[in-house]
Amino acid sequence: MLVKTSKYLLILFTLTAVTPCLAQQPDFDTVTNRVVKTLLGKINTGKLEVSVKKNMADLHPDGTWADINYTDNAVAIWSPAGHLSRVQELAMVYAGTGSSYSGNRMLYAAIVKAMQAWNRVDPKCKNWWYNEISCPQSLGQIMLLMQSAKQLPAPLQDSLLIKMNRGDMYKQTGANKLDVALHNMYRALITRNTTLMDSAISQCFQPVELTTAAEGLMYDYSYLQHGRQLQIASYGSVFLGGEQRVAAYVRSTKWQMPAEKEVILNKFRNDVFLKAVHGKYFDFSVMGRGFTRKDSGKASAGLTPGKIKPVHNQYWIGDYTQHVTPDYLFTVRTNSTRTKRLETGNGENLYGRYMSDGATDIQRSGSEYFNIFPVWENDKVPGVTCRDYIVDRPAVNSWDQPGNTAFTGGVTDGVNGINTYTLDFDSVKAKKSWFFFGEQVICLGSGINAGVPENITTAVNQCWSRTKVIVSPAKQAYWQDSIGYYFQTGENVNYTNAIQKGTWKRINNSQSADLVSGKVFKLWIDHGKHPQNAGYAYAVLPGISAKQFESSSPFSQLQIAVNDNQQQAVFDLKTGMLQAVFYQAGTIKAGNLSVTTNSPCVLMLEKNGELFIADPSQQLISVEVIINNKNVTCRLPEKQFAGSTAKFTIK
Ligand code: CA
Repeated sequence: MLVKTSKYLLILFTLTAVTPCLAQQPDFDTVTNRVVKTLLGKINTGKLEVSVKKNMADLHPDGTWADINYTDNAVAIWSPAGHLSRVQELAMVYAGTGSSYSGNRMLYAAIVKAMQAWNRVDPKCKNWWYNEISCPQSLGQIMLLMQSAKQLPAPLQDSLLIKMNRGDMYKQTGANKLDVALHNMYRALITRNTTLMDSAISQCFQPVELTTAAEGLMYDYSYLQHGRQLQIASYGSVFLGGEQRVAAYVRSTKWQMPAEKEVILNKFRNDVFLKAVHGKYFDFSVMGRGFTRKDSGKASAGLTPGKIKPVHNQYWIGDYTQHVTPDYLFTVRTNSTRTKRLETGNGENLYGRYMSDGATDIQRSGSEYFNIFPVWENDKVPGVTCRDYIVDRPAVNSWDQPGNTAFTGGVTDGVNGINTYTLDFDSVKAKKSWFFFGEQVICLGSGINAGVPENITTAVNQCWSRTKVIVSPAKQAYWQDSIGYYFQTGENVNYTNAIQKGTWKRINNSQSADLVSGKVFKLWIDHGKHPQNAGYAYAVLPGISAKQFESSSPFSQLQIAVNDNQQQAVFDLKTGMLQAVFYQAGTIKAGNLSVTTNSPCVLMLEKNGELFIADPSQQLISVEVIINNKNVTCRLPEKQFAGSTAKFTIK
């Protein structure tokens, strides 16, 4: 035995010395071991043993299971995928240690039988994702696990390797490219194919770059997929998690991620992705249609932000704003002719028609909206102005719906900022802007017009009710769960603080039909029927106690200079900062300031003479600004930076 081993080693050694293609052997070993270790890392032996016993017993002599529908037509949750995840569990227990089934002969036979069945039946889904991503990945993982212990019989493995080779990694983009490249990497590891490994890794890392293409990581660091659609924690999460995983697999080997790509990936993770998490929960606006899946709003461990510093991020490409403070997260999601509205598809997000019409996510503890969506009144999405239907109206359009307006965007000085959205959807028009002053947010609406039968409402919030509601009639103000809302007198404000009911299935076909209910705080402004140039103004102060609520009056400090069809502006009497939206050329006066522009724009003027300006339409080369008789020609950023903030200093 010893002699045999030495001989074998000697032969191997000789081959290594003379065959160049084996030169990568140690790197292949390193990467394979890391992948297998990661796959085994998920193992929970005690829990798995019970299901392994059952699944071995239930396996038919032909290698199938009775409870799996091998001709399933479903597109969102497809039954045959369950066959592979079950075999993967068996392979984990077989290849792992510490179980009575580790290396078990009967278990090996069951795995082979089940894989022979897959090879024979070769199920195909109507949703390409299963055929070209999910199944090839599972096949690769199963074969790597088996190879680490006892490889599947060679003819079976060879045949499965052919079935794994589906999907074109060169044709895909973004997270999907990474996912297809990943199973190519698995195949390269199983077959020790250096050429395939080189191209798979290069395609895995290709999405880690700023792009002007329709999908992927944009120059504003937003992550878009399915056309220019915001997907930071949906496809963006797949992208981030996948890239990090592959980077870890190949660290310190010849396939290591280039340093400049690591910088880009870390910036997306820290400055964008983690900024969309508050407490342990995601901003509902970054989850794509996935927000209609139960529990999807909870961030996994290790993906929660640490110490929070104030920051205001304006995504001029993704049409999204994050206002981050240690006390709260306040985001705005919009759309434009340059981006897509939130999609409905594969039976998911059946009611979210207004999710990108100026939806505001306001998180304090973080869990304000966690799993609330089945009980939501879907035409009262926080922040949105729309028709108030008696019965929620389903989303009629599905994929690929662009926005209708171009003047959408904002400006930032890094900590404060403005976001503006021109609404023209579902026969309702409005001009909506959000003015962020440190701890306070002023929300203005103007030019609200509609000639439809329903009342038009602007929802201010619709979140879980956690405390009593305090109403201050004198100030036309409301407080609930540490957030204060202050309105202008004369506005028709309504609220409810009551149980709402619904099912996940109502908003997502694949989800449970069980009734869910909970107490919801809902606050909205009613603009009545057929509004003509109606408007609104409200202030949101997140993170205040009931006592602070009584003593605060935000409008005495933050003066609304103008709120009409031509302009919206707020002036901070305390700091002297002016925040203004010009829908057309004109002059705004506030305090002892006079600001004139020759074009539509958004701008912030600070007391130290710093001017921050942007063009939401992304069309202008420059804007002429006159501030108290001083002229400034503001040359604006171009190309992929068009719409981003330019800074000038007025002397
Ligand atoms: Ca309604």
